[in-house]
Amino acid sequence: MPSANFRLARRGLLFVISSPSGAGKSTIARRILADDEEIHLSVSVTTRPKRPGEVDGVDYHFVDVPTFKNMVAENQLLEWAHVFDNRYGTPRAPVEDMLHKGQDVLFDIDWQGAQQLWQQASGDTIRVYILPPSFEELERRLRGRGTDSEEVIQKRMARAASEISHWDGYDYVLINDDMDECVKQVKNILTVERIKRRRQIGLIGFTRKLLAPPED
Ligand code: ADP
Ligand code: 5GP
Repeated sequence: MPSANFRLARRGLLFVISSPSGAGKSTIARRILADDEEIHLSVSVTTRPKRPGEVDGVDYHFVDVPTFKNMVAENQLLEWAHVFDNRYGTPRAPVEDMLHKGQDVLFDIDWQGAQQLWQQASGDTIRVYILPPSFEELERRLRGRGTDSEEVIQKRMARAASEISHWDGYDYVLINDDMDECVKQVKNILTVERIKRRRQIGLIGFTRKLLAPPED
């Protein structure tokens, strides 16, 4: 039988993973999502073109600029930012829905998005930054991914240093050298953050019952 604290109601987490492009955050996110039923991906809206192999509604909701602007005007996005000349944003409704159910939400978003989520829900936002072991390895991974043109790879490399400079705006900073080790560390963070007392809203009822005098 599972122990009682697995059954207690708890508040959902906004779990943010950021990194310079190519450091491995999407791969890590996929591994976490595949192994853990209590966390779901927030699928962002973007105006950038679809990469080979990407699926609309799964990797992103791909929209044009007027549609994106309309979503901003109608307050449909929890946060949004310009990244690499394109717009990216987090649809509000699915996130609120999952959090209300006590489920966690995983965000693969940049530092601007992490900052905006933190401003809105600091108590439940956990920010994890993934660093590459070196710039040489970062470039190798961008090339190895085989999804971007040479021009785009150069743009991403040129932007990496300024992105990394935001590492100290995060709660946890991990170096993604060995993928398995890094995934293990992210899972450890999730485990510990979930059992923090203030998130276990079921604890009050549980301890009340535990301490209640025996019924006549
Ligand atoms: P991001 O989402 O940060 O842009 P990806 O997850 O797409 O990065 O990873 C970029 C490439 O690097 C992918 O081909 C991925 O398989 C590879 N990769 C990620 N982590 C590692 C690692 N620890 N060791 C070797 N290759 C890795
Ligand atoms: P890519 O084009 O490689 O998928 O993503 C480029 C960058 O945009 C990544 O750093 C990614 O984390 C970030 N990003 C993706 N979706 C969002 C979003 O909804 N909001 C913000 N602020 N950044 C995002």
